[in-house]
Amino acid sequence: MAAVGTVVRSRPPWIMESGCAASGCAVSRCTGPTAVRAPTAVRAPTAVRFGPVSARGCAASGGAAGPGPYARRVRIDLHTHSTASDGTDTPAELVRQAKAAGLDVVALTDHDTAAGWAEAAAALLAGLTLVPGTEFSCAWFGPNGARVGLHLLGYLYDPDDAELQAERRRLRESRRGRGQAIVNNLRADGIPVTWERVAELAGDGTVGRPHIGQALVEAGVVDSLDEAFADLLSSRSKYYVRKADMDVFVALRLINTAGGVTAFAHPLARRRGPVVGDEVIADMAAAGLDGIEVDHPDHSFADRAHLSDVAANLGLIPLGSSDYHGRNKAVRLGACTTSPEAYADLLARNTASSPIVFTT
Ligand code: AMP
Ligand code: FE
Ligand code: FE
Ligand code: ZN
Repeated sequence: MAAVGTVVRSRPPWIMESGCAASGCAVSRCTGPTAVRAPTAVRAPTAVRFGPVSARGCAASGGAAGPGPYARRVRIDLHTHSTASDGTDTPAELVRQAKAAGLDVVALTDHDTAAGWAEAAAALLAGLTLVPGTEFSCAWFGPNGARVGLHLLGYLYDPDDAELQAERRRLRESRRGRGQAIVNNLRADGIPVTWERVAELAGDGTVGRPHIGQALVEAGVVDSLDEAFADLLSSRSKYYVRKADMDVFVALRLINTAGGVTAFAHPLARRRGPVVGDEVIADMAAAGLDGIEVDHPDHSFADRAHLSDVAANLGLIPLGSSDYHGRNKAVRLGACTTSPEAYADLLARNTASSPIVFTT
């Protein structure tokens, strides 16, 4: 695959963290300056060279193939999780899985952390582009004490930005205490789960309810994570404890200030709890939101049709992503994908960084 057009105005600061210093390359197996391009040129979004164009969509809905006899579906998945949070593939394994799944572009978007970026970049394989990102725990605060938790994806921001870094740390620390509190609540009712095991399962990664779910499965309390989330770990359960969050408008400002682009993750995933109305999405768009997940495994076809209209009306970039979590969820990499046009539009909004491209 050819290099991806980007709108880089400066080299991403973290690309120097590992790899061969001479070429400024972040990839450990790099064979020289030409093997990995730390992009330096400013290109128009139309410079994205993917060959035949395909539509955004989900495998289940028959994501379109490009026209013509040589058409190949371009596969872009902009929302995945690794062991840096609540996925089960290490960042390096995730990159290998992305390649095996035939993806051209994969974004690593662990919860409240950028910790997996360097390992994923170092494991990058020919023909694959990595978009570093984070899924931020946020909330919308409305009148009369109204509050709705939501997830905001930030891509290609400067991970050394001090304010955003402090927020990520605050969110992760809160998740640890909250995980312990949920475990304590379960234990108080005689449910045999220990914080030691949950912490072991999370390792260095951001703690999430899936780690508690894994411990519950191991202890034989439930048969599956789905069963755990349906009851004991549900946000409506008596054992539930809320985690800290960022006000979504603060998060939009901080990510934009750190040079990133943003997308509203699974805005209509009602199974997880209350969702915000279209008027809030309009306020987020006015506050600088760039994109919105339209195709997502948790969205019904009616949701997708509605969000497609919302995106068009508000000038938001419509995205499709799998929200892959490895073995913690049934969904596969590339189950939902983003069109090359939407991807190019997203990159065109970025000012600080660029995807990492490995060319053959
Ligand atoms: P937390 O971030 O700790 O509040 O936990 C929510 C996470 O659990 C989200 O990342 C979801 O993707 C994940 N999750 C929600 N439902 C399920 C489920 N049924 N099975 C596995 N993971 C789930
Ligand atoms: Fe998750
Ligand atoms: Fe999410
Ligand atoms: Zn996610």
